[in-house]
Amino acid sequence: MIEGHIAALQAGIQMRWEDVRALEIVIDEIAGGVSPGKEIKLLQTGGPLGGFLGPSELDVILDFDEMASKGAILGSGGIIVGDENSCAVEMAMVLADFNNEESCGKCFPCRLGTKHILEMLRNMTLGKAKEGDVERMQAMGDTLLTSLCGHGQLSVNPINSAVKYFEEELKAHIIDKRCPAGRCRALAHV
Ligand code: SF4
Repeated sequence: MIEGHIAALQAGIQMRWEDVRALEIVIDEIAGGVSPGKEIKLLQTGGPLGGFLGPSELDVILDFDEMASKGAILGSGGIIVGDENSCAVEMAMVLADFNNEESCGKCFPCRLGTKHILEMLRNMTLGKAKEGDVERMQAMGDTLLTSLCGHGQLSVNPINSAVKYFEEELKAHIIDKRCPAGRCRALAHV
């Protein structure tokens, strides 16, 4: 399923396995390309426990192993395309919110880790983050890997991939109190 800032009129497009090839071809030929006049900024794949890919990875083949080698997961095959008006921090916060909500709370690395990561990302969108929050979030992610089940262990994916591909954007929110995409309303006047 491809969704997001795509030119096709449908809200979602079903793909067949025979359509599987490089991501940029899938987006261009099946989804009609990104929104008219815009560039692809990010891809979010594999659902809330999946990760981000940056525009440098558009030639990756839509395949479990190929995607994993880039730090993303294919999961059930969901792809969200974000154009230059997308904010990677805001999107990471939405994923973290879901992962926190879905934590059953049985083990503390996941129960507390998903909550703290959500708080840190929310603070970034509100201009309340502190220098060092990226590193603190990564350390929290390392702790998540000790969670009891796959939910906690995979909740680290959105964080690590956001840092890998969009560290500058994270730091713009934290240090400059600026949202380069202009999405975070609390930072609009700063
Ligand atoms: S990792 Fe699994 S068992 Fe632990 S709190 Fe999260 S969902 Fe529950």
